[in-house]
Amino acid sequence: MKEIEIACPIGKEPDTAQMVAAAAKALGVAPKNVSACRIVRRSVDARGDILYRYRIEAYRSGEEAEEYRIPEYMDVSSSEPVIVIGAGPAGMFASLRLLMRGKKPVILERGKDVHSRKFDMARLSREGTVDPDSNYCFGEGGAGTFSDGKLFTRSSKRGDIREVLHQLVAFGADPSILIDAHPHIGSDRLPGIVENIRKCIVEHGGEYHFGTRVTDICKRADGGFDVTASVSDDGMSGGACRGVSTAVFSARKIILATGHSARDIYRLFAEKGWELQAKGFALGVRAEHPQSLINRIQYHGRYQPYMPAAEYSFVTQIEGRGVFSFCMCPGGILVPSATGPGETVLNGMSNSARNSRWANAGVVVSVEPEDVPEYASYGPLSLLHFQMDVEKRMYDFSGSVKAPAQRMMDFCRRVVSSGLPATSYHPGAVSAPLHELLPENVSLRLKYAFPEIGNRKMRGYYTNEALLLGVESRTSSPVRIPRDPETLEHTGIKGLYPCGEGAGYAGGIVSSALDGIRCAALV
Ligand SMILES: Cc1cc2nc3c(=O)[nH]c(=O)nc-3n(C[C@H](O)[C@H](O)[C@H](O)COP(=O)(O)OP(=O)(O)OC[C@H]3O[C@@H](n4cnc5c(N)ncnc54)[C@H](O)[C@@H]3O)c2cc1C
Repeated sequence: MKEIEIACPIGKEPDTAQMVAAAAKALGVAPKNVSACRIVRRSVDARGDILYRYRIEAYRSGEEAEEYRIPEYMDVSSSEPVIVIGAGPAGMFASLRLLMRGKKPVILERGKDVHSRKFDMARLSREGTVDPDSNYCFGEGGAGTFSDGKLFTRSSKRGDIREVLHQLVAFGADPSILIDAHPHIGSDRLPGIVENIRKCIVEHGGEYHFGTRVTDICKRADGGFDVTASVSDDGMSGGACRGVSTAVFSARKIILATGHSARDIYRLFAEKGWELQAKGFALGVRAEHPQSLINRIQYHGRYQPYMPAAEYSFVTQIEGRGVFSFCMCPGGILVPSATGPGETVLNGMSNSARNSRWANAGVVVSVEPEDVPEYASYGPLSLLHFQMDVEKRMYDFSGSVKAPAQRMMDFCRRVVSSGLPATSYHPGAVSAPLHELLPENVSLRLKYAFPEIGNRKMRGYYTNEALLLGVESRTSSPVRIPRDPETLEHTGIKGLYPCGEGAGYAGGIVSSALDGIRCAALV
């Protein structure tokens, strides 16, 4: 086998004759002795002529292209249950792996099914009222369901990414995610995929319990667990009034995949005296530019409407801390991703076509526990309290989930903007001294970062056409639930597997899914 590369105009794929001819040449054989050509990667190259570059595996006669096969799911209706708390990427992919191992996932999810959840998110955007169990972070599919659905992970150490991508395709994602250098799914497609995953789990004998918020976890003397949950009867209905009861679920093993916003779970651990650690995270703003401007910068003025909306990413160091772009959404919109009342938090999402007129990205600064000595008395929850205070400060400024906002150059010059450009953020923005509302160690680093990015990396990026909105604070978990590196069980509680982003071992859809698979393989 040899790898070859073929360049094609954007929107085109190499045809078979073209691939075979290039393969024969590279392999030094006649075209009839080329047994297969397989496209393994596609990336946009905007350095010279704007092209797709295809990487292709070329096989000669006698060689066979190895096909990836998803392992089979078993019927687990009468198997040993494993409680999976949280139906985000970590919980869902852990559950699929449990099915492969013949164990029965019993999924407890505080939010609603993916369909009912949409009504609560619409209410949040329209009226500014947050349902603390059903929002952009909580509900079936977790925080990744209404997102851009970017599927990158920087680390291949976490596991075999093919298991995640092939399963996503089997459940309805476009097969292009298997080859794209920067694959993404989009918010219009993700809910259907999440629903198909649930149907598969239930068909094979697993259980889903929506509207089921875990409030206590007790270790029994025999080594098993009793998990208490508050259960609301509108888990599947989208209704506004709730009848609430309590239920107890028992199992010998628990996968805890509650995500980075499950603050009540961190508090529960703290109350029980179960080990937690403060973990560095990043905080800053969402920067929103016109997508046309980002296209102009990234395609060097040669953008054509048939080309994909341009992306960007950057990382720099300012005064010993990383400042970087986070979760960039080309052709996307900004959404309110608070999980409780009195918080203003923003994130970004986009549809598969990435065709809104805006480009947004988090631009954030790393924050370590030693940067916030005033919160040290909270111990492992120090950065969590810091995060909560900044979110509250944003909310208090506008008195709603409307985002405090400032034009980019005004932010760096420390002046309040006299008027704001249009924004995709549906609840709206209010002109604010964001430079003062943000913690000083974050604000000052951003002040230096924006002109630097504009001068050194993306000419035109530093502009007053760009709007900064606060706050982007849910980049990753500010707390780690520590686990044994070999068994992946909590350091003090055998049989409890802290998993995914909320445990501090993943960040993003794919790495959380991979972490779910790792934990389920050991349960
Ligand atoms: C708007 C938005 C856009 C994003 N875009 C991207 C992107 O494009 N690409 C990317 O890689 N990442 C993106 N992310 C981040 C990504 O969604 C997360 O990294 C990922 O979902 C983490 O997976 P997880 O399973 O560990 O946790 P989560 O997805 O947070 O899932 C945790 C689940 O646990 C449930 N839960 C919490 N507490 C309890 C409890 N007490 N009882 C029962 N259930 C509970 C929650 O309701 C939730 O469903 C985005 C996030 C948001 C909010």
